[in-house]
Amino acid sequence: MSEKAVRSMKNDANEILRVEHVKKYFYGNKKLFQKERSVVKAVNDVSFDIKEGETFGIVGESGCGKSTLGRTVIQLLKPTEGKVIYKGMDLAALPAEEMRKLRMEIQIIFQDPYASLNPRMTVRELIQAPLDVFSNASAEEKLSKVKEIMAKVGLREEYLGKYPHEFSGGQRQRIVIARALILDPQFIFCDEPVSALDVSVRAQVLNLMKDLQKEFNLTYMFISHDLSVVRFLCDRIAVMYLGRIVELADKEELYNNAKHPYTEALMSAIPVPDVDVKRIPVLLEGDIPSPYNPPSGCLFHTRCRYATERCKTEVPQMMEVCPGHQVACHLFAENGGGKV
Ligand code: SF4
Repeated sequence: MSEKAVRSMKNDANEILRVEHVKKYFYGNKKLFQKERSVVKAVNDVSFDIKEGETFGIVGESGCGKSTLGRTVIQLLKPTEGKVIYKGMDLAALPAEEMRKLRMEIQIIFQDPYASLNPRMTVRELIQAPLDVFSNASAEEKLSKVKEIMAKVGLREEYLGKYPHEFSGGQRQRIVIARALILDPQFIFCDEPVSALDVSVRAQVLNLMKDLQKEFNLTYMFISHDLSVVRFLCDRIAVMYLGRIVELADKEELYNNAKHPYTEALMSAIPVPDVDVKRIPVLLEGDIPSPYNPPSGCLFHTRCRYATERCKTEVPQMMEVCPGHQVACHLFAENGGGKV
């Protein structure tokens, strides 16, 4: 498909990215006496949009498919079905050369700053690497850009010749952030960027990310299993369970008025820093189902305290229960948005 054709898919004002019914399935090999290949539906029919300059959070337990979704959105993985539309362009349909150009404005911050930095490269080489691939600037211009970005993320110039093992986790993550920013990106996929850090340095890195977002007008897609982190950084939040989004709302709406039984349980588990506030945790029954053999109907029915017979057979669809707040649960579908 030509660039002109894919650009013709109009996007809403302010919208930078739209995900439409994206699926990502992984197929196993067919074994002896097996009728069909096994399949893991890591991401199953997910749709949402992200506005320019906002931080869109995706939360869920480990293995719910949130990282796979992020990698599919930025085309590190090809979607099995569905569209990812960035600034009106269908990324999966873009010619390789066009996609290569877009890589400059779509960047990633990885989860583990220990694994994502080559230990044999100096700080200068690490941060400059994207420029070496994408820019024709002179060596002096590249060095000047590296120094400028290092200053922005709080790294001193004297670190230029040092190696990753000489830094703490927080400083390493600053190097990773500098590398992500060196090409002046617009959209950054943040894959649990603070989960490998000590609690004491998490706040520093999160504050830095907030400041950089304001300064460079960045749009973040932020993945985390930590609800406190997501609350601090995100504007809107989607909750994922076994490959599907089950609830999506503005941050304050979600934290004050969670609707889906799974979100309710997650919220009840957040520690409250006040000894006088007593919160009764909602305990989820049963184990997380295997993604190789997910439950029928509502994927959450094996652990839901409100489950009915209908939940075992019928997949609930996302519906808007109040402006900007969507939920996939039969409890709300039957009553036009109000809980039954
Ligand atoms: Fe629970 Fe049924 Fe709602 Fe699923 S659809 S969350 S099982 S009440």
